[in-house]
Amino acid sequence: MSEHKDIVLKVWQLEFSYPNAKPLFKGLTLTVQAGQRVGIIGPNGAGKSTLLLLLNGILKAQKGSIEVLGEQLSKETEQKIRQNIGLVFQNPDDQLFCPTVFDDVAFAPFNFGFSAQQVKAKVQQALREVGLNDFENRSTLNLSFGEKKLVALATILSVEPRIVALDEPTSNLDAKHRRKIINWIKKNGRTCLITSHDLDMIYETCPRTILLNKGQIIADGPTQLLLRNRQLLEANGLELPLRFQPFEEDER
Ligand code: ADP
Repeated sequence: MSEHKDIVLKVWQLEFSYPNAKPLFKGLTLTVQAGQRVGIIGPNGAGKSTLLLLLNGILKAQKGSIEVLGEQLSKETEQKIRQNIGLVFQNPDDQLFCPTVFDDVAFAPFNFGFSAQQVKAKVQQALREVGLNDFENRSTLNLSFGEKKLVALATILSVEPRIVALDEPTSNLDAKHRRKIINWIKKNGRTCLITSHDLDMIYETCPRTILLNKGQIIADGPTQLLLRNRQLLEANGLELPLRFQPFEEDER
């Protein structure tokens, strides 16, 4: 019984197709427990981003159900569920659209009806959490790509979601910002779903990994095992994380 109590996300027999395309998800089922960090890996087109968009209610499944913190996703619950499950897009320019960092990070809490004073406190807290304390008045346009990624993360932290879904959080980042994101993931304590091709990052941050291919769960288990399984990864268009690749001498 206590096991069920801990489940914060339940995807049940989900069916989804994009218009005029063949079905992508044909009965996807998975559960995630409170505090779990789950890596979602797979080749391009596997359905990783689509899955995150469905969880957040941006896309609608044709069949099946999604339960977040015990509440079924529907038109009526969508707003509340978006507060509980924050989605950070792969491209921060899809998330940031206000003139200043403050406005972007304040947007969600304002929308959820918090007072101006509460919003200010939430913005400060979210920016502090991602290490951008003094960025409130900065113009979003003038940020580096790495800073934009961190601000995009702060835009969802400002409503204190219990679950965080990150789509390719380290793509195109320099080593310093990649490390900042990894450190944040490791210490934040929330339930995290992370899609990525950066398998070294997944290895370091996510004890559990789900391997998707063509909309199907091919494997779901301990990252320590999955990401060492060369055959499984290669059969699904992936490679071992760099840390497990044999050192090859320069051929010259
Ligand atoms: P991944 O994130 O694993 O690379 P996606 O979820 O982006 O995969 O895509 C899954 C499949 O859905 C791909 O075949 C892709 O071409 C298709 N797809 C993605 N977005 C759209 C869209 N807006 N309209 C139609 N097909 C799409």
